[in-house]
Amino acid sequence: MICVNRGERLHSLFALIFFLIGIIVLRLFDIQILSHNYLYSRAFAQWQGISQDENRGGIFDRNGRSLLDSYKENYVFISPRWLKDTEIEYLKKNNLLSPQKSNKLQSIRLSSANMEVVKKLLGKTPGIFIFPKEMRYGENALATHVVGYRGKTGIERTFDHFLKGGKSKAGILYDGFGQPIPGASKKDVTDVNWGVWLTIDSKMQSAVEKIMDEEIQKGAVVVMDARTGEILAMASRPNYKQYKLEAYLKREDAPLINRAVEAYIPGSIFKIIVLAAALEENVADLDDEFFCSGAKQVGGNIIRCNSYEKGGHGRISLRDAFAYSCNCAFIELGLRLGKVKILEYAEKFGLGKKVLGVLAEEKPGNIPSPQKIYQADLGNLSIGQGNLQITPLQATQMLLTVVRDGIRMTPVLVKKVVDSSGFEVQTELVIHDTEKIISTNTARKLQKALKAVVDYGTGTLSKPPNELFEVAGKTGTAELGDGNNHAWFVGYFPADNPRYIITVFIEKGQSGPLKAAPVFRKIAEEIYFLKGK
Ligand SMILES: [Zn+2]
Repeated sequence: MICVNRGERLHSLFALIFFLIGIIVLRLFDIQILSHNYLYSRAFAQWQGISQDENRGGIFDRNGRSLLDSYKENYVFISPRWLKDTEIEYLKKNNLLSPQKSNKLQSIRLSSANMEVVKKLLGKTPGIFIFPKEMRYGENALATHVVGYRGKTGIERTFDHFLKGGKSKAGILYDGFGQPIPGASKKDVTDVNWGVWLTIDSKMQSAVEKIMDEEIQKGAVVVMDARTGEILAMASRPNYKQYKLEAYLKREDAPLINRAVEAYIPGSIFKIIVLAAALEENVADLDDEFFCSGAKQVGGNIIRCNSYEKGGHGRISLRDAFAYSCNCAFIELGLRLGKVKILEYAEKFGLGKKVLGVLAEEKPGNIPSPQKIYQADLGNLSIGQGNLQITPLQATQMLLTVVRDGIRMTPVLVKKVVDSSGFEVQTELVIHDTEKIISTNTARKLQKALKAVVDYGTGTLSKPPNELFEVAGKTGTAELGDGNNHAWFVGYFPADNPRYIITVFIEKGQSGPLKAAPVFRKIAEEIYFLKGK
């Protein structure tokens, strides 16, 4: 056994204390000097979280092109506690630091003017960095009403929970001089096009929007693939800019409304429903003759035909009555069918309920119950007036059923949903539903009648010159009762092998034949040249 005296014990204790103090001093030296950059970067990475967007999923067209027009903008990050008094004074003098908040962290967009000021300090102090900030919405964003605004409207609202759910952006770590630290930077996970992929074709969408900017102040256009029911373009006017949303909130022309899914009086495009019902129920055929004296009385209501000034259409076949949009013949059809049948067919075609499950703004429109239609209203019902309301999207779906030979299909807007790992996600919001609602025979007759409208009826201005391709469709001029009319044209091309269905709706556009049909023509031509078909 080794005997240790008191003096030696004290000596050992002091040695231990000195040793521990030495470790602490070294650690402090390490923390303050050696690890400075590392801890500093950690701190900056945390600050970055304050100033940078979360890793939100994107919104893409059918080919994976972003519809957001996102871009990066340089911001300067100022951390006053790392700055000398002279540097703080310099920044204050140049309006980069406000005197009231001169001790708070600030991130400021880097303009060419303040860049000059920042340059003088950059690299000389750890209190100033430059970092790129992602701006979600750009000047040239497309389909702004469909995409919507984060968490508030459109796809951005419906899929908000999903879009927010991206893996956190571990991102890039910067050193004190604003340079990425080698090895510490992680690859940005957003190189996968994760988010919501729509069926929209961005080139077509862009072409449609350009024409609308020239031709339509208020209104909507929907372009649909006539084979699949996929929505290829959907746009509303007036437009708005997502990056300055506040500027549009109180405007009287309501630019934030998605008019493609808003409900309006259909006017004569509703004659498609009445004709379908009449043919399917065998109350009349295309060659049957009707008589138009220029006006017709139903239960005390006198309704004029567009031929009133000329003394009426006289003897007219049902095919021509559809082509010239004769009200007298259609009121006669309505009387033969009765309100119940007309409303039943309207519902069969999908009117009166929402078409998509993915836009919260979508309106169901209005198909009144038979109890609310009196005999005097039957005339108006037969020509698409009264308290009927349909959306431009429903009008497009109505034609889809006709060109699909009577099979009603649910239109599609969302192509797929991809998570941040690149995996496709199943969603119950995307339902593909089909149902045969009228016979092929009736649908083919409707196609012939729609062709007659464009060949020699009210829709001739929808036809391109030089017989580039054949068009079929129907005009609508919906009277609002205050002297204004909504202008409609719903149609498709090529007429014998339908590829694209286009609905043009112009709010208070006054005339379907004169205003909406020519816009249809412009859009159809543009798509024709774009797709080379
Ligand atoms: Zn008539």
